[in-house]
Amino acid sequence: MLKRRRASSPRSNASGPQRTCVQCGAVREKGGLLRIAGKPGAGWAPDPGGKLPGRGIYLCLVGECVDRFAARIRTPKGGARWKIGVAGGELSDRLAASRHGGR
Ligand SMILES: [Zn+2]
Repeated sequence: MLKRRRASSPRSNASGPQRTCVQCGAVREKGGLLRIAGKPGAGWAPDPGGKLPGRGIYLCLVGECVDRFAARIRTPKGGARWKIGVAGGELSDRLAASRHGGR
């Protein structure tokens, strides 16, 4: 009977930096989240590669967080929360497109 145990490590689950999904509050590794980069008032853009400068908004890649966030920023209230403003509709469209544009 083979029953191997992996060496227990206190940080076995933390292989990278972790971020919090703004939509559901889940804490995940960066690779499991979609980053939206930008600055309040200056515009935001989906940043799947995590390379754009600026602040980041993070959303779960799985589940409905991206869809829900996109729906939220279409409303003035939702857009105001991140100072997305009138660009919310456009960003929302880009999020929808990025979801279907491969992974
Ligand atoms: Zn989430």
